Amino acid sequence: MLGSMMKQPLLISDLIRHAARYHGDTEIVSRETTGEINVTRWAAVEDQARRLAAGLRKLGLSEGDRIATLAWNNHRHLKIWFAVSGAGMVCHTLNPRLFPEQLIFIANDAADKAIFFDRTFMPLVRATREQLRTVAHFIYMGGRDDEVASAIPGVIFFDDLVQDDPAEWPVLDEDTPCSLCYTSGTTGNPKGVLYSHRSTMIHTFAISLPDALSLSSRETILPVVPMFHANAWGIPYAAAMVGAKLVMPGPGLDGDSLLGLIDGQKVTLALGVPTIWQMLLAAAERSGSGMESLKRNVIGGSAAAPSMIATFRDKYDCETIHAWGMTETSPLGTANQVKGKHADLDADAMALLRLGQGRPPFGIDLRIVDDEGKVLPRDGSSQGALQVRGHWVVDTYFGMDRNALTDDGWFDTGDVATLDDDGYMVIRDRTKDIIKSGGEWISSVELENIAVSHPDIAMAAAIGARHEKWDERPIIVAVKAEGRNPSAEEILAYFEGKVAKWQIPDAVVFTDAIPLSGTGKMLKNKLRDQFGGILAERGT
Ligand code: ADP
Repeated sequence: MLGSMMKQPLLISDLIRHAARYHGDTEIVSRETTGEINVTRWAAVEDQARRLAAGLRKLGLSEGDRIATLAWNNHRHLKIWFAVSGAGMVCHTLNPRLFPEQLIFIANDAADKAIFFDRTFMPLVRATREQLRTVAHFIYMGGRDDEVASAIPGVIFFDDLVQDDPAEWPVLDEDTPCSLCYTSGTTGNPKGVLYSHRSTMIHTFAISLPDALSLSSRETILPVVPMFHANAWGIPYAAAMVGAKLVMPGPGLDGDSLLGLIDGQKVTLALGVPTIWQMLLAAAERSGSGMESLKRNVIGGSAAAPSMIATFRDKYDCETIHAWGMTETSPLGTANQVKGKHADLDADAMALLRLGQGRPPFGIDLRIVDDEGKVLPRDGSSQGALQVRGHWVVDTYFGMDRNALTDDGWFDTGDVATLDDDGYMVIRDRTKDIIKSGGEWISSVELENIAVSHPDIAMAAAIGARHEKWDERPIIVAVKAEGRNPSAEEILAYFEGKVAKWQIPDAVVFTDAIPLSGTGKMLKNKLRDQFGGILAERGT
């Protein structure tokens, strides 16, 4: 016997249809590449998405075709997302910050048939187009423009494409792919993760829940995290589901531009990686803004430092939700919301609890295993490789024959973590970044958290430097805070009493800037290449 309820496939088109019908007048505010502010509404986003879907079909594009974007977070990008996925095509967000060779590899691997691009990326398109073997259509995200037309012969204009009569959304199988995102590939070639309508829809429900990101129609959400970084953590979909107002920052990711949007649009929730918050906090400090509207921010992508969480809490009355995830997990894996039984913890215990990466929502299961694959206890102290499974976790990378899972069906994240009985997970490190000193492990994250809590340090990375006796010893590569000039000895002394003696770094080196990946993470492999030999050179 089967249940006798309606069965409707879980489709992205339902999200935009719902937003248009029930939240049609809710605003989408975005900064254009020219710097101007555009204001549209959910109803208009759906109308244009349906017209765009018709325009794409007219170009001969059809279900399953990969359609790429090289774009900032803005209203046209949002319309493209819903048009492409809604029409049964696959929206492939390219990360424009990658090296051109990587971008070419990814677009060819995905066999993209068309590319939408913002004006900022016109030179990139011009430089790479000859090598994009499968791309037949280059679509400029704007109106007719002579300069673009002469730079990119044959270019099509977005604003022309949306002139067609609106298409009807097709009814698709919910396992149809809707979007494609590549991991950044700091080691080896990038790999594609092909999301389905079903996985995306279930993820969207889950991240909206109160114990995850707690989203609702009462929020004004600023996704600083780019739409090309793990689908902006699912926010554009979830905003449509709950009918929230969206504020899209376009190319303005510097502190002053973000602050202008937060104060001007009364943003209540903003999401991004730690490097973004650092710039925002500096801008707020300079301008004296209290960011009164900002009630919550989500920090993910890399570990949030305790000093940053404390500044948001104590100075701006803004609650930080620390979240963990990966491209392979759509991306939300855990979010740090406090359980009822922990609501009355004292300030120190609460701060410690909130520093971790939080708990998995329903739909995600976590475990940690040792080197032999034996499952370790959920006791909050056993440390091992973090593995995950769930409705929105990758099974097989795009174009691969074999799945990416362990024999018993779990995905190994490449992170080292602890897990407790309540499900609170703490990332100790990435497997490849953890510092191995004489057979003992030292968490680079923990050392970095201490270093950046020193007022004279703006940014710091802890890496393992080669050591004759201990194999590796920790060193700190740091950028000094503006106008400050600490000595290496002062910074080293600052570690005393904060970690075990043998974990105190052997050296601090100062540098002007720490190299960042396309998604704003510290490139520690580059730092290891550059600074990994300094202890050996010094003969210490
Ligand atoms: P990439 O870093 O390769 O671009 P992802 O954006 O998918 O790819 O990154 C996923 C990784 O980022 C995780 O495996 C983890 O190492 C790291 N990460 C994400 N969120 C956090 C967090 N809150 N704390 C610590 N590390 C995090």
